[in-house]
Amino acid sequence: MGLLSLGTPLHWNEAKDYADHVRKHGIEQFLHIYNYQKDRQTQCLLWGDEIEYIVVKFNDEEKTTKLSLRAFDILEKLEKPEHDWLAGIEKEPPAALWRPEYGRYMIEGTPGLPYGATFRDLVGVEENMKLRRKMAHAAMDPDEHAVSLVNYPRLGCPNQLYPDHEPNGPACQSMFVPDQIINPHARFPTLTANIRRRRGSKVQINMPIFHDVNTPKPFIDPTIPWDRDLFKHDKEAKEGAALPDHIYMDAMAFGMGCCCLQITFQACNIDEGRRLYDQLAPVAPLMMALSANSPIYRGYLADVDARWNVISASVDDRTPEERGLKPLNDSKYVINKSRYDSIDSYLSNDPTYKSKYDDIDLVYDKDIYQKLRDSGVDDKLAKHVAHLFIRDPLVIFKELLNVDDSQSSDHFENLQSTNWQTMRFKPPPPNSSIGWRVEFRSMEVQISDFENAAYSVFIVLLTRVILSFGLNFYIPISKVDANMQTAHKRDAVLNEKFYFRKNVFTSRTSTGNAQPNPESVEDEDAYELMTLNEIVNGKENGFPGFVPLIHSYLNSTNIDIETRCKLSSYLSLISKRASGELMTGAAYLRQFVQTHPAYKKDSVVSDEITYDLVKRADQIAKGEYHPKELLGNFTA
Ligand code: ADP
Ligand code: MG
Ligand code: MG
Ligand code: MG
Ligand code: MG
Repeated sequence: MGLLSLGTPLHWNEAKDYADHVRKHGIEQFLHIYNYQKDRQTQCLLWGDEIEYIVVKFNDEEKTTKLSLRAFDILEKLEKPEHDWLAGIEKEPPAALWRPEYGRYMIEGTPGLPYGATFRDLVGVEENMKLRRKMAHAAMDPDEHAVSLVNYPRLGCPNQLYPDHEPNGPACQSMFVPDQIINPHARFPTLTANIRRRRGSKVQINMPIFHDVNTPKPFIDPTIPWDRDLFKHDKEAKEGAALPDHIYMDAMAFGMGCCCLQITFQACNIDEGRRLYDQLAPVAPLMMALSANSPIYRGYLADVDARWNVISASVDDRTPEERGLKPLNDSKYVINKSRYDSIDSYLSNDPTYKSKYDDIDLVYDKDIYQKLRDSGVDDKLAKHVAHLFIRDPLVIFKELLNVDDSQSSDHFENLQSTNWQTMRFKPPPPNSSIGWRVEFRSMEVQISDFENAAYSVFIVLLTRVILSFGLNFYIPISKVDANMQTAHKRDAVLNEKFYFRKNVFTSRTSTGNAQPNPESVEDEDAYELMTLNEIVNGKENGFPGFVPLIHSYLNSTNIDIETRCKLSSYLSLISKRASGELMTGAAYLRQFVQTHPAYKKDSVVSDEITYDLVKRADQIAKGEYHPKELLGNFTA
């Protein structure tokens, strides 16, 4: 990992004085990229997925599991083929690339090279994911397993780590997890500590507990060391940070230690990228609900199925002034969201875009906006970047303050990569052949690679349909936010409704200008609440549904039967998850806990249940166990 030689990370007290320096040069770097690459056209679609895994150590005799903090030893082996390839020792590119993540128990795998545009490529995804899992296992000890659960059910409970450590580290000051759980690269403990320092308190995460028949009401968590007096922040829990009837968590690891499934696409040009960014933004909450896979936190069943709010709170570095708790004095803005949240504005200048869709009062840096405008950047893109740049850079390496802004994007990326939003618009790196890309970031990782492939392929096909049918998914962006909250709810797929656009076929002229019928403008842009079944499978006399739209797109293409069958099995999984015929991972895991013989109906997910659950996830992933209620008749 080349990153290790970066130098001395600055304490927040010092780093904050360089914030404007980083922002100023970050904008210069962005402008260099923009000016050189704004007209760039790339021929074909390239795309790739990222899957994150947790490494779990099984003790089959004692029937216990522990999170293995050995990810870095494992990664060293996994990254060797890539290093050999880069060094010219190996002629063939590696089948997979491996990266560290926030947790010292996490690994991230991507395909060795991005996939291409063909349908054959789509079929190769699952194979590559399975190969990655095999590679991961080959690099680990025999009792270690790479499990694609969103989170480890008992993260933050006593005796869950290998090797074990007491929760008394100065970086996160958590009452539940030690600093040794954090990726040891200086960047990560610094990020953790600087978030706390900037915020002025520990991060505060509360997810509603699932009240089962024997769960005390109100639920006051007996496992919180309420009276610990080790750090000055320890008193926060009893002073209101830990809410009754909630699962309280106090460290970045609870969020950034969660595993996601992310998809990055390269667009033909900047405009197509911006269009995809906008069209996929309303899809992000829907896909989170459909992929929901995280009903357990810190040893308790939660009343939510998805992770997003946990991560959002786990990196919320806003000062009390920025959070609107105190009048503005030292801080510049009141900011409505954490750095990890759903997007606040649309980005495209497509003719189907209307300014009324941007109904969130966007906070952005006016000076940066003006600088970008004066340098030829259009209004929407300038606002997008000026919004990202309301944040402070959290990790600054002293030795890297001064770089050549025409050659480096470090300062730009410092802010870009710590704005963790549902969509990310990725400009090309300087001096590379990579084009403008868009990342879809809301999905929860799935237990098996069949599912991970299905969700990935579904999103890729949806982008093809959006582009080739010219679909219009615009709704007011505040409704996308509302959907994001709805998507967390327990069994949201079955019980909730989501805002979605009624008419997705907006007419366009050959020059690309939309021609709304002036008499029916209201109608044309109408949206309504729909179930996920209606959105995915179609509604009678209404929205045709994502899956039927994808099928009609596939019908219009030349595609061999074998490939079509495979793609149909993926679409069918998504379709059945949306209709409720098959369970989401979250529903499956919740049911697993609630029907476990050791479960006492008190919301507690014990060591014993955790062992069986993680084991089950591993067996499903390896094809050794096939739960029909989760996977149907498809062979994973
Ligand atoms: P990040 O962690 O910053 O989101 P990664 O580098 O881990 O990004 O991976 C993003 C994904 O993008 C990978 O699946 C990779 O295969 C894919 N990818 C790489 N190059 C391109 C490209 N030119 N266009 C589209 N996707 C790409
Ligand atoms: Mg990555
Ligand atoms: Mg990652
Ligand atoms: Mg990343
Ligand atoms: Mg990513």
